[in-house]
Amino acid sequence: MDAGSAQRNANRSRVVHALRQRGAMSRSDLAEIGLSRSTVASVVAELLDAGTVVEVADAPRNGRVVTGRPPTLVGLHGGLGATVGVEIANGTVRAAVCNVAQELLVHDAVTVDDRIGPAETLRLTGELIDRLLGRTSFRREQVIGVGIAMPGPIQRRTGLNGRATTLKPWVSVNPHALATEILGLPVLVGNDANLAALAELTLGVARGLRDYAYVYTANGIGAGFVLDGALYVGANGTAGEIGHTTINEDGLVCECGGRGCLNTLANADAITQHLWQSHPGKPSIAEVIRLAHDGDAGCRRVLADAGRHIGVAMANMYNLLDPELIVLGGNLAPAGSILIDPLRESMARRAIHAGEAIPPVVAGALDGEVVVVVGAAAAVLRDSAGFPLGAGTVA
Ligand SMILES: [Zn+2]
Repeated sequence: MDAGSAQRNANRSRVVHALRQRGAMSRSDLAEIGLSRSTVASVVAELLDAGTVVEVADAPRNGRVVTGRPPTLVGLHGGLGATVGVEIANGTVRAAVCNVAQELLVHDAVTVDDRIGPAETLRLTGELIDRLLGRTSFRREQVIGVGIAMPGPIQRRTGLNGRATTLKPWVSVNPHALATEILGLPVLVGNDANLAALAELTLGVARGLRDYAYVYTANGIGAGFVLDGALYVGANGTAGEIGHTTINEDGLVCECGGRGCLNTLANADAITQHLWQSHPGKPSIAEVIRLAHDGDAGCRRVLADAGRHIGVAMANMYNLLDPELIVLGGNLAPAGSILIDPLRESMARRAIHAGEAIPPVVAGALDGEVVVVVGAAAAVLRDSAGFPLGAGTVA
């Protein structure tokens, strides 16, 4: 290969890498990755000829007003390969198949008994993935990787699940090693809140932002941080465990061993248990939210109280990190203003004002049911080095 064609290959790889990281982009945004406009034009033309990329209509960007005619974007051709996202949670496993154009093709969930253990859970996950692939035009060999999301921290050095997870049978298990062996596909493992943060960054309300925080509410409450355009997981992988920040020193003992953690006051169990006398039959969090929207005063009250507690933790997080936007997602997000208004009020009382308003807190754009699996699939696509596209698709 001569020097000229080596340079052309390198330029093509840079463009494909940028599209994997950020989704469809305009030619002028592609020029900002460090290539001249004329180089971008000729590389895109070559990639269009090769069928690696296609032209797509502009996508909405974070509510910004677009003046003039929106630019045509360039994105990867969806037929080049598939990514799979998996969320392993308490009692369920959800999986989704996306294409490399970041389109969600199919998703489904299965109920699993938490007592069956990690190996059997992953075996059922493999069956679910195969069933879902059967509903698409992709074969197993066209899957470039599987992103697996789990609650709780994944220890960065050892790859083991930490003890502060709600999935007790997984404590001290290396999910990457086990999943690679059982699924027989290239695997990436991450924390559910971190991967949900990637989903909103790539496809949702945080598109194009450099610094933002995502708060994911599930059995526990976790946060994902995007700092300077990259996911920040911390030295040990525990960054963002906002659910274990102390709200009440003398409060209930948390599963982490601490007292009065946010999780003991504002996760789904903590919210619903306040209703055991007034609402017999222990309504689920989804039912509590539905009743609250119908005007049930008790349900509105417990959601507002949860919002105030989350607001305290969010103010502390905001004072440390100074994000541009905070996105709330997961099972509490459908409560909308019933929870978010008291949350904002509580946060505003505690957040540092640098002469400007504190950042907006908004509900995520992606459906809470799929945000984590979409983010897990996006994480695979973002990792060009770990999960190459099939041979011959880029050159
Ligand atoms: Zn805790």
